[in-house]
Amino acid sequence: MKRRDFILKSALLTSGIAAGAVLPKSLFSAKGTYSISGDITVKIPMPIQVVIDDVGWWSGEDGSSRQEPYRTGIKRNHVPADYAAIAELGSILGIRPQAAMILCEWDKFNILRKLPNSTWMGEKWDNSKWVGPWLEEAADIINRNKKNLEITLHGVGHEYWVDGKFSRAEWASKDGTMRSKDQVERHLDFYQEILKQNNLGEFPSSFVPTAFCHAFGKTVGSNISIAELLKKRGIKYVNTPFSSMANAGSVSNRYFGFDSGLITVDRGEDLLDWNMIGVQPKGVITGPVCGMHWPNLLNADPKRNSESVNEWVKLLKPYNESAETMLATDSEQFRVQLAHFGCTAVKTEENAIEFDFVNTDSLPVSYFEDEFFIKVKSASRLTFQSNDMKILTESSFSDNSYSYQLKLKRLSAAKKGGIVAINI
Ligand SMILES: [Zn+2]
Repeated sequence: MKRRDFILKSALLTSGIAAGAVLPKSLFSAKGTYSISGDITVKIPMPIQVVIDDVGWWSGEDGSSRQEPYRTGIKRNHVPADYAAIAELGSILGIRPQAAMILCEWDKFNILRKLPNSTWMGEKWDNSKWVGPWLEEAADIINRNKKNLEITLHGVGHEYWVDGKFSRAEWASKDGTMRSKDQVERHLDFYQEILKQNNLGEFPSSFVPTAFCHAFGKTVGSNISIAELLKKRGIKYVNTPFSSMANAGSVSNRYFGFDSGLITVDRGEDLLDWNMIGVQPKGVITGPVCGMHWPNLLNADPKRNSESVNEWVKLLKPYNESAETMLATDSEQFRVQLAHFGCTAVKTEENAIEFDFVNTDSLPVSYFEDEFFIKVKSASRLTFQSNDMKILTESSFSDNSYSYQLKLKRLSAAKKGGIVAINI
């Protein structure tokens, strides 16, 4: 490949994009990636986030045949080492898996007697069986590993009980119709109380609806959506499969939509069934979420949890080494990167990488201040420089070629467009 002279693109082009210059339509592909000459490939990688459901149960028993919760459906109880497994996965991969937690079996003072439809025992709720030193041990693991484990709101008791019988699920019925506003608020209040009882920190900023019973927007009988109620509690992001979400047709992007300002992300399909334990995960992650249930990360013998964790490490690591994807380090970075992946157009022109943020900037949430990543592959060494974008970090993402992962932040001059000059 011939050595090219370094050409810093003039600011003219930037302002041209800002003024709405017409760009080729193909730039606005839903994939958000654009590859040009054979010499250099530039991608805005799709972020992948690990989401683990049904964390929090102490009993593993599937009690559904007698109107108790499904729980995790395994033949042993849960132990603090099961929390350590989540943190271990996070620490090895440098990520913050989301632990979507159910908290009823953490209720030290039986406060859920006052919220009878949240448990199978109703007003006679008695959790004394599960109150013991393991609560502090697990809370300690969670709190010491905040960088590698994010508590995510899942539910109090997972289902919704009336006269000792449950229906799916806690926040909405099967067809996605939200439970009454009053009930939703009370369940959120009690969730917060149990977090407090156990010193588990702030109210979460993300939500996975139980049994994936959820609607995008308002449902019949409510003048407010669950997203609106969650937003008031500080929730910023909802993760659920669009295949079972009511009103999914009103989602604007392929992988995400905005519901009262909350980004709602398609979880797609999990690789394993919900109650499989000690099984080697196989398959391909095709969307932005690697969803699983707690047993999937564990072993029947908790002393061997690391074996299952390592299987997931093997499966997930290549997604960091690919130019197309990256493992999101936490859910905040995930949301930002996903928005850029879906909406920001990027292409290379001579020796510059050009961005177009018109679609990104039209989203209901502003990502202007946020940092995002690109991956660049080349046959020869490159250096980067920009007046429009701050290049915060530069690292390599694979051993095979000259591969660069850049963390970028837009500067005010590049509100609509931006250029990173490449020096070869
Ligand atoms: Zn669940």
